[in-house]
Amino acid sequence: MKEDTLHNLEIINNRIQKACEKAGRNLDEVKLLLATKTVSAERIKIALENGQFLIAENKVQELKEKYEELKNTPHENHFIGHLQTNKVKDILKYDVTCVQSMDRLNLAEKLHQRLLSEGKTLDILIQVNTSEEESKFGVHPDEAVELIRKVSEFSTLKIKGLMTIGLFSAETEKVRSCFKILKNLQQEIISQNIPNVEMKELSMGMSGDLETAIEEGSTIVRVGTAIFGARMYPDSYYWNEGQ
Ligand SMILES: *Cc1c(COP(=O)(O)O)cnc(C)c1O
Repeated sequence: MKEDTLHNLEIINNRIQKACEKAGRNLDEVKLLLATKTVSAERIKIALENGQFLIAENKVQELKEKYEELKNTPHENHFIGHLQTNKVKDILKYDVTCVQSMDRLNLAEKLHQRLLSEGKTLDILIQVNTSEEESKFGVHPDEAVELIRKVSEFSTLKIKGLMTIGLFSAETEKVRSCFKILKNLQQEIISQNIPNVEMKELSMGMSGDLETAIEEGSTIVRVGTAIFGARMYPDSYYWNEGQ
């Protein structure tokens, strides 16, 4: 298990390095985030003890289950799944530092209220549905600027950038167009100079499409399968409404 994980990490780091070289970017511009849904705390720990730092869960339940076992191993925890408003409290309790899946105003309101009462702030990325597949969460690209303007008014929420899940397709150019939408949106938002909004991070690219994402300006690639192997549940289990 340990050898597999470390070997796979090496392969991923090489892929990231090659993609950066090809795109003429510095390696330190791209962070590797481990998408750890369904992965045991024991296995996550192996990665954390061998050079990795940034991990993310999709479900509050898993965050909670792995918390005790991971809390003494240095790391940073993001949240990348659909967040129900009644789980907001747990996100803070289990030390999530960034919610990458902010996609609606009422979630922002709930988070803000909770953060105010705890005297905390939280980094967030706005999740954009660039593939326009109904099965995926995220604000529609046409509505993203308006959402960002509204969310920016909540003083406890620190907008750091955008996140998207690219189209699942073997056709690279179709996938690329999703990443271009996110990059263009980033540029548009930067040009609007909205107070309390930073647009440094573009979280895009996964096991299958990280090279394309890096070419298009990704600063965070989120990788699960290529490091930890195939999952038992299809991704729709994590991405669809009502789960
Ligand atoms: C599972 C997941 C990933 C990682 O996907 P892989 O294809 O396993 O690399 C990235 N982002 C999100 C939001 C995920 O749910």
